[in-house]
Amino acid sequence: MSINNKHLDDFLRAENANVKHNFDAASINNAIVNNQFALYYQPQIDLPSGKVVGFEGLLRWKHPEFGITLPEDFITVAEQSGQIDALTNVAIGKGFKFMEKLSPDLKFSLNISTQSIKNYHLVETLNTSCHEFHIDPHRVVLEFNEAAALENPFHTRNILAQLNMNGFGLGIDDSGAGYSSIPELEKLPFSELKIDKSLVSTMEFSSESRKSIISTIELADRLGISTVAEGIENNLEAIGLRELGCKVGQGYYFAKPMVETETLIWLENWDKDTLCN
Ligand code: C2E
Ligand code: CA
Ligand code: CA
Repeated sequence: MSINNKHLDDFLRAENANVKHNFDAASINNAIVNNQFALYYQPQIDLPSGKVVGFEGLLRWKHPEFGITLPEDFITVAEQSGQIDALTNVAIGKGFKFMEKLSPDLKFSLNISTQSIKNYHLVETLNTSCHEFHIDPHRVVLEFNEAAALENPFHTRNILAQLNMNGFGLGIDDSGAGYSSIPELEKLPFSELKIDKSLVSTMEFSSESRKSIISTIELADRLGISTVAEGIENNLEAIGLRELGCKVGQGYYFAKPMVETETLIWLENWDKDTLCN
């Protein structure tokens, strides 16, 4: 299963690497209007029990000419052109609609750009969408990158506090890359640290990577929050991370990001004993 998943996603990435897209604001706008963006879902697994705890939503552009296009080709353009909030809204709308179909104990993680954290409407948009789709905000985790969390601390702290007060979970994506400002991070109401896939893929042979993973888990334990490791591609990494005390895992080993129908079939067939020892 893992090899298949990896091959399918890698194939897409290799195809994409060969083509340099120069998308502009008008084409992104056209794609939003024509409903060409889709949200794919990748499961997150509780490492001790093997149970599914939730999904991360990852955007794809179903481009009529180029096929499935990855976020690296359009997120930066959308950030620069001021369209990222519109894309965030697309992801919220599609993701929450999907969540309504899932068991209420499953969570949903959504990537929030550094740009969107500056948007005061974010809290309102999320609250309105939770209401519309009957979603408890405690089921939603908003993933920010470390730089976004630390940039413009006063404003950021205010928005993060509002999101936290409204019940949303807050995660830091790509953790472990340095923690230049741990004291600053500790003041913010995060509920989850996400261990970067670059550390997971090198943990087997790099003591530096293992050290970063351990210090991230120790920091999370000290703060009483969860750890999620991304980019798990094999059983060895999954078991290793579980032994280091990481709570949740995500990666091709479990499943690649999938469309909604495929996700529901995967969920039905998931065997929590896949992750034995
Ligand atoms: P990310 O949030 O760090 O997401 C993890 C990336 O790793 C995803 O790439 C995912 O498909 C890929 N991945 C998952 N499992 C594995 C694995 O086992 N091995 C490896 N090597 N990679 C794996 P993707 O989907 O291309 O997304 C790239 C980035 O684009 C994301 O990084 C995120 O920062 C951004 N992104 C995706 N969707 C959204 C969105 O809705 N809004 C915003 N603002 N950014 C998004
Ligand atoms: Ca993420
Ligand atoms: Ca990441």
